[in-house]
Amino acid sequence: MTRKPSRRSSPTGTAPGLASPNPGSPLASLSRAAIEEREARELAPFAMKVAASRGRQHDEPEHAFRTAYMRDRDRVIHAAAFRRLEYKTQVFVNHEGDSYRTRLTHTMEVAQVARTLARALRLNEDLTEAIALSHDIGHGPFGHAGESALADLMKDHGGFEHNAHGLRNVDVLERRYASFRGLNLTYEVREAFAMHAPGDKRALGFERCRPLLEAQLVDVCDNLTYTSHDLDDGIAAGCITPEEMREAELWGATWDGVVAEHADLPRPLQVSTAVKRVLDACVSDLLAATAARIGASGVDSPEAVRAHPHLLVGYSDAFGRAQRALARRLHERFYRHPRLVRMAQKGRRFLRQIFEAYTSDPATLERPTKAWADEVGVPRAVCDHLASMTDRQALDEYRRLFTPYERA
Ligand code: MG
Repeated sequence: MTRKPSRRSSPTGTAPGLASPNPGSPLASLSRAAIEEREARELAPFAMKVAASRGRQHDEPEHAFRTAYMRDRDRVIHAAAFRRLEYKTQVFVNHEGDSYRTRLTHTMEVAQVARTLARALRLNEDLTEAIALSHDIGHGPFGHAGESALADLMKDHGGFEHNAHGLRNVDVLERRYASFRGLNLTYEVREAFAMHAPGDKRALGFERCRPLLEAQLVDVCDNLTYTSHDLDDGIAAGCITPEEMREAELWGATWDGVVAEHADLPRPLQVSTAVKRVLDACVSDLLAATAARIGASGVDSPEAVRAHPHLLVGYSDAFGRAQRALARRLHERFYRHPRLVRMAQKGRRFLRQIFEAYTSDPATLERPTKAWADEVGVPRAVCDHLASMTDRQALDEYRRLFTPYERA
């Protein structure tokens, strides 16, 4: 993972089976070369252009119709770790209900909001989408409870953190391609993981700098998205009421406004109207404040963004305070709700016991994990195995290992 990224491969090569269209052909306006020209013309000076990418770790020919960032997005969507997000906890463990957000639908909401804002700010939408779709790919089962359990179990073996593990997933753990491990993503998408991982970025092969605006945008959109959808799910589940959340001014003023305006509307529609207004308010403030901050900063290239002393994507000061107050209220009332605390406790206990069962006697390991343990050591191989699991795979594994009369 510390290899130096190669420069982009020769622009004359194309992926097998897809020849570049002739310049006179009607397909020419859809070619990768045409998209790259359009980026140079239409994106803001501070946006990351794919033509300036630092490239992939393993050289590959370019695609005729998709830029490198479009291919990164598609590679993420085709990854097994991405598909498993469907059965991983966002807030509620997967079997708690079919209408709550999962890691996958959360990811889709983040990508959708981030793409809208990227377009409005004239940032690179394809890069933004690739970063957004991959941002939670390193999460294990049971959400943040699962992450804290793995971090604790791995504290003497190199640790565990979902961004660092996301990079490990796309660089090492995914096996889809004949000539390399991982997905061979571009430097810029990989850098977004490293920027949020703990510790020295240089140890992961990246320079110490600010994230690109596309990566900053995904980070704030992640926060913005879960604040509004967790309100929605929390109220739908009966864990919190709109009234008890009123103490946070951003929600309180919005809720009171909706109730005054739509007194006769059924309550679920009042809730969804208020949640939508909170989301709209966050997006509007974020867009205006970010555009103003970028303008005032004078950054005129992605390199200037990397070198800038401050992050540039964010809310206005006053709105940011209101947004954080709402997030705090969610913490007190929803994330600390006895039902969620019990779920989290169970998830942590399952992961701890499975980890201990395997690490105490590696003879219990199945062949692929056993072979991987020979390469990376038993604790890391077991951690990789656990982190790859969905909620229900972990529950099944727990039952298999610890329930009498269950076939081991
Ligand atoms: Mg997220």
